[in-house]
Amino acid sequence: MAKDTSFYIVDFDRTLADSDKLIEIFIEIADKYFHIPKERIEKVDSEVKQRGDTFLLATYVRDHLSSENRIDDWEAMEKLFIHESRSLNYLLPGANELLEWLDTNDKSYGILTYGDVLWQKLKLSAAGFKHIPHIIMDKKEKGKLISTWLDTDGVFQIPSELGGGSADSIVMFDDKAVSFSHFPPSPSRGFWVLDAGHELLSQQGDTPDNVERLSNLHDALRRLGDIDKA
Ligand SMILES: [Mg+2]
Repeated sequence: MAKDTSFYIVDFDRTLADSDKLIEIFIEIADKYFHIPKERIEKVDSEVKQRGDTFLLATYVRDHLSSENRIDDWEAMEKLFIHESRSLNYLLPGANELLEWLDTNDKSYGILTYGDVLWQKLKLSAAGFKHIPHIIMDKKEKGKLISTWLDTDGVFQIPSELGGGSADSIVMFDDKAVSFSHFPPSPSRGFWVLDAGHELLSQQGDTPDNVERLSNLHDALRRLGDIDKA
């Protein structure tokens, strides 16, 4: 088998992790330290789920506590959040298996995630993924960013935050169609991993031809196995 010269990109929210569960845990904990106005909490649902916008409540709570000189409380909250979320299983089906497959098959990979830096970092820590090379983006179009890595020889120069090096193609896993906007053409390929039963408005949209839709990461793993054998 020829050496795989692909670089694998995995999304975090709703691809590896049940992000709603993490938000719930956060709100529950934050509530012990600080009364969050009800409207703020209600906004989360429409902004995060329907529009796919970033969750800004963590930064709001931290800034508020900091303005009251209660940064110790924030740090305690962070610890409690990491602790509480670790005891729950919020990774999605196939998430552990995919990461294990990437590790055991010696694939180069990283996490490309969209959202508020503080909140994304907090979740990556809670998931124990801080050691995985990652980039936190403030735009939803990941394909557009990836396309900028392509040099004049048609080789992807992987950014140092994702471990550096070069790759002939990109393989990306993501639950949102918009993430594949401007995604590079074949031989790069995408897996739009989205369970039809729990589809959100923010996940829907058109994807390029080299993006295959699958229900979960177990199916994605099966496809990867097939591709590897080919
Ligand atoms: Mg996502």
